[in-house]
Amino acid sequence: MHEPDEQGRDCIVVTGASRGIGAAIALALASQGRHVACLSRSGALPACAAPPEVAARWMAARADVTNPVTLAAALRRLAGEGWRIKGLVNNAGVHIDAPSEQMTLQQWHQVMDTNLTSAFLCCRAAHPLFKQAGGGKVINIGSMMSIFGAPYAPAYGASKGGIVQLTRAMAASWAADQIQVNAILPGWIATDLTQAAREQVPGLNERVIARTAAGRWGQPADLAGTAVFLASAASDFVTGTAIPVDGGYSIAA
Ligand code: NDP
Repeated sequence: MHEPDEQGRDCIVVTGASRGIGAAIALALASQGRHVACLSRSGALPACAAPPEVAARWMAARADVTNPVTLAAALRRLAGEGWRIKGLVNNAGVHIDAPSEQMTLQQWHQVMDTNLTSAFLCCRAAHPLFKQAGGGKVINIGSMMSIFGAPYAPAYGASKGGIVQLTRAMAASWAADQIQVNAILPGWIATDLTQAAREQVPGLNERVIARTAAGRWGQPADLAGTAVFLASAASDFVTGTAIPVDGGYSIAA
């Protein structure tokens, strides 16, 4: 971890920031001058190129978001090192493809624990730190499956639908503490999470391009602007929303 300096004691925690969407959000926040704590099981720094002055604002820590003990320890360590946690991006996520009748209970729990329960745990651990800091920003990463049903993704859809309701509940309950809680619903984004499906599911690549009004898959960097906005003072009167960032996928007839 980098040592906090007098000017830069505030930081934003991004879970699942070692690659994909989390890495792009970490890069965007650091490019805007924010210090970013990147949590993942590997504890790796974001796998994207950054100029040295931007990379100097990253720090990485190993934490499994499904494990309340390692998670709380990572947040406590940051606070103990003098960082004021002012933001939290609940981005870590997994997807397991299986229709309901074939999904095992273990698979169900793995998806729910990583995608939904982790957001609850992170927020619960961060809440006293936000209060201490005079406010905070939570950004929860949902999905198009927060809105639509997919036959092969019962747990994923349940977790991402749940993220939107968790966002609303926390937004309503924490607004008086100057804590804004919002969700971003990405469309189909080209990352490791979607690579196998993109390459192996017949017709998927073409269907995504045809339905997405922008006519292409999203890139992780497409999420950056909305995340920067929701992490900034510019969004202080925005709370409880779920913003699609999907190239128009969700407005297609
Ligand atoms: P990736 O698979 O590319 O990255 C997932 C990240 O989460 C990695 O950094 C991984 O790091 C981390 N992670 C996974 N499990 C855990 C865990 N238990 N504890 C801590 N970190 C973990 O996924 P994407 O970037 O595509 O997805 C990011 C988020 O966006 C997810 O919530 C996903 O559901 C959502 N999303 C993605 C879409 C897409 O099209 N790609 C569309 C809609 C939503 P490590 O393995 O080191 O732990």
